[in-house]
Amino acid sequence: MQSFIRSIFGLGRKHVGRFRIEAGDYHEPKACACCGRLVHSLTRFVSDANGDAMAAYYATYTDGHPDQQIRLIIGLGEWWSDEPTNRRAFTIWYRNVGENYGFMLRDPEDNPWDGAAIFGKYLTRAEALADAEIATIWALCDEIVVGDPEISRFLAVKQA
Ligand SMILES: [Zn+2]
Repeated sequence: MQSFIRSIFGLGRKHVGRFRIEAGDYHEPKACACCGRLVHSLTRFVSDANGDAMAAYYATYTDGHPDQQIRLIIGLGEWWSDEPTNRRAFTIWYRNVGENYGFMLRDPEDNPWDGAAIFGKYLTRAEALADAEIATIWALCDEIVVGDPEISRFLAVKQA
């Protein structure tokens, strides 16, 4: 029942929420180094309620991992410019273990993509916590788990 509510909720919010999430390039899933199950990677672009580009993110997760971990890089800032100068990148992990789930800010060396330059300057965990727009990041994270169809589908199936 929870997964049903979650998926309906996700579809509804995708169009009326504070953020609009659009899919970028498709990445072919790869085999997980630890178990051979599929590792998915997503590229997404985010615009605000006025339709202005405000963020982009990468997300990666593996089918069948019990903690349902999702690793994210969110680049926030001036996405209307070709230059990443006025963007900064937040490295965030999501975990779902029983009743304990949530997002954690991580240091940049914990991101799985070797720091793609398009996201701008990679913030340390301390810099991210002190960032003036950290509340926007948490609101976006909250939206991602219900409003990104691939991610909400992954989280809806409790991994064995
Ligand atoms: Zn694995």
